[in-house]
Amino acid sequence: MSLLVDNIGELVTNDPAPGDGPLGLVPEAAVVLEAREVVWVGPADAAPAADQRIDAGGGAVLPGFVDSHSHLVFAGDRAAEFAARMAGERYDGGGILTTVAATRAADDEALRATAVRLRAEALRQGTTTIEIKSGYGLTVADEARSLKIAFEVSPESTFLGAHLVPPEYAGRADDYVALVCGEMLAAAEPYARWVDVFCERGAFDADQSRAVLAAGMARGLGARVHANQLSAGPGVRLAVELGAASADHCAHLGEADIEALAGSSTVATLVPGAEFSTRSPYPDARRLLDAGATVALATDCNPGTSYTSSMSLCVALAVREMRMTPAEAVWAATAGGARALRREDVGTLRPGARADLVVLSAPSYVHLAYRPGVPLVRQVIHNGVVA
Ligand SMILES: [Zn+2]
Repeated sequence: MSLLVDNIGELVTNDPAPGDGPLGLVPEAAVVLEAREVVWVGPADAAPAADQRIDAGGGAVLPGFVDSHSHLVFAGDRAAEFAARMAGERYDGGGILTTVAATRAADDEALRATAVRLRAEALRQGTTTIEIKSGYGLTVADEARSLKIAFEVSPESTFLGAHLVPPEYAGRADDYVALVCGEMLAAAEPYARWVDVFCERGAFDADQSRAVLAAGMARGLGARVHANQLSAGPGVRLAVELGAASADHCAHLGEADIEALAGSSTVATLVPGAEFSTRSPYPDARRLLDAGATVALATDCNPGTSYTSSMSLCVALAVREMRMTPAEAVWAATAGGARALRREDVGTLRPGARADLVVLSAPSYVHLAYRPGVPLVRQVIHNGVVA
């Protein structure tokens, strides 16, 4: 069964071959999908016949968003903490550990229901590929079940046992790291594609982070790092040194960090929803891009510091607050996310790519930033199926 999407006012392919600029723009375009793949891309008046047809109504079409950083396996919410922070009040509700306690207390069904609900919410907003981390269990059993649920929801699942040292290991961080690298990793690994670590003062230092990443890599997992989020630290350089797919957050970078990223295949994944929700300074996307680093945008969807599943919001923030152009932001939210997950089959619309696309009720991708907060995603096709 083939499906023709035509009457596309502006097609973003992220493939410079058929179109214009890095977004590979094709005006007045059509796309043909068959058996979960893109099979044809080009001008609408040259499109081949297909079994079914979708009329894009002159709207823009782009590859489905690739959200390469989320934390969807958790219980509870932290709305009171958010409200207090926005009111400028001190609030010691426990931060991540609040969510750890709620997650440990929740049964599998409750955790699964939340992850499935948020995955569906993201899909409705155009996210067709999503990475999901564990990291609110922090025991062998709770990390294993968190990963299992993440993996049920998305193949891009990440073991983040090294999110924080749990209270029962207070003052014994090295013992906790040994547990993470040993028994916990062994239990989580069957359900994980990636290993991640929160490399930050108060979480894990460079040596501990290196140990966690090396242990995961020795078991065949790809590496990613929560790096330089709250302070300038060793996270970014460690990510580059180990050949990690992505260094995420990057809010506090020095010149050496930027040079390291620019000279590497490690993607700088920026998560402006986190700075928005914590009223913190945004990362310097302009410096990264001008230096030649590859930049991705992701939601960091989590109940504490960025409870949004909207990639459109991230695009708008990147343009307004981080001085990315609309084209750079849309590329980063699609092709950039795919690079951060080392995927070549998503984040692009070229023959052979996965049939994941978004139809906007707007004539241009620019409207994603130009019309912030407006639900412009009219239709989502995921794996060749209308979602
Ligand atoms: Zn995160």
